[in-house]
Amino acid sequence: MSDSRSAALFAAARRLMPGGVSSPVRAMGAIGREPFVVARGEGAELVDVDGRRYIDWVVSWGALIAGHAHPDVVAAVTARTAAGTSYGAPCEGEFELARLVVELVPSAEMVRFTCSGTEAAMSAVRLARAVTGKSRILKFAGAYHGHADPFLAEAGSGLATQGIPASPGVPEAVVKETTVVPWNDRQAVEQALDGGEFAAIVCEPYPANMGLVPPQSGFLGFLREQADRAGALLVFDEVITGFRVAVGGAQEREQVVPDLTVLGKVLGGGLPLAAFAGRRELMEQVAPSGPVYQAGTLSGNPLATAAGRVAVELARDRALRARLERTTSELAGGLRELARELGVPLYVAEVPGLLCPFFASQPVRNFEDARASDAKAYAAFARAMIERGVFVPPSRFEAWFPSFAHESSHVERTLIAARDALAQAA
Ligand code: PLP
Repeated sequence: MSDSRSAALFAAARRLMPGGVSSPVRAMGAIGREPFVVARGEGAELVDVDGRRYIDWVVSWGALIAGHAHPDVVAAVTARTAAGTSYGAPCEGEFELARLVVELVPSAEMVRFTCSGTEAAMSAVRLARAVTGKSRILKFAGAYHGHADPFLAEAGSGLATQGIPASPGVPEAVVKETTVVPWNDRQAVEQALDGGEFAAIVCEPYPANMGLVPPQSGFLGFLREQADRAGALLVFDEVITGFRVAVGGAQEREQVVPDLTVLGKVLGGGLPLAAFAGRRELMEQVAPSGPVYQAGTLSGNPLATAAGRVAVELARDRALRARLERTTSELAGGLRELARELGVPLYVAEVPGLLCPFFASQPVRNFEDARASDAKAYAAFARAMIERGVFVPPSRFEAWFPSFAHESSHVERTLIAARDALAQAA
């Protein structure tokens, strides 16, 4: 590694960019190694600048549900590029994608496109505050909703990976408006709501930024009731789960309809695109039809909406969905089986399209449990996997992302590597 082209490029990058990266988790600091530098992606694999291949269970942190460089996505983007990359004026592509979102996502009657999940989540909260006339929001410890100020309180994902509870630079006055309670804790939710006036309960319906921690049975329905009782909006951040755990997201699978939904990742087919969506009377409060300001130079641009349309159309294909579910359960089941055989305490959380192995002997119900899992064991395991050509998230707080491009052979090769890596981690 040290005399590789990857290492030389990354050493130079560290002098140019903080940590050598454009987003912290990519630096792989939590598992004590340097990143490989990617040359290209092909289906379920990445190839680095030294020609090494990796089976990719990260797929751009879930954005690439169809895998890398899917021919239909590439064709759509290539065709659009020749017609110009951004207009700063309406285009048909965004209308077509909006129509798909409204058709597929139960809570979506209208949609506003943004370029990142951060912007979309931030704007959904602004809208919730405007329509309720209240300012507090309730979020869950370990949940990540992007890096806007109101959400950087006990956030999961990158902050948890770096061991940062909140970020310097976020005014205390902003964080004071955010109440954080443990996931899956009904009493804490009720008590918090009784203690103040809330604009919104914001949650990832299947939290996947503290590792994967699905809700206990009935918990999302309970949040729906509590939001109604408190006069707050229920906001589902489905940036990860949207079009992945079901075509209509977790809200379709769980039959709980939020007031507002935040979408991203799969929605953009690997290009910068996200959205917030919801009931018509709420969304009509957004400028220019209403007073709640939100805007973006590149929002809804023709390339991203073209890629997104292909990805979302693929995501509704029943055969592809069945394969995604099979891949998820074969990989999760295989890891459980190996761990049992090797006597390694491993709890593997799983929903269709997402999984996460925790080095823990008990089920993980919340962020506290996730933090109690064995960080050193995960780091040793992830390092060993990457050394064996399997790219797994370089953080125990991130989910693994199967895609339509993963086949049984990728699962088999991953499990062969995992046998050695688990033995090494134990
Ligand atoms: N919400 C969730 C659930 C996410 O997982 C993420 C990013 O990983 C975001 C919001 C922020 O999205 P973005 O990175 O596009 O700003």
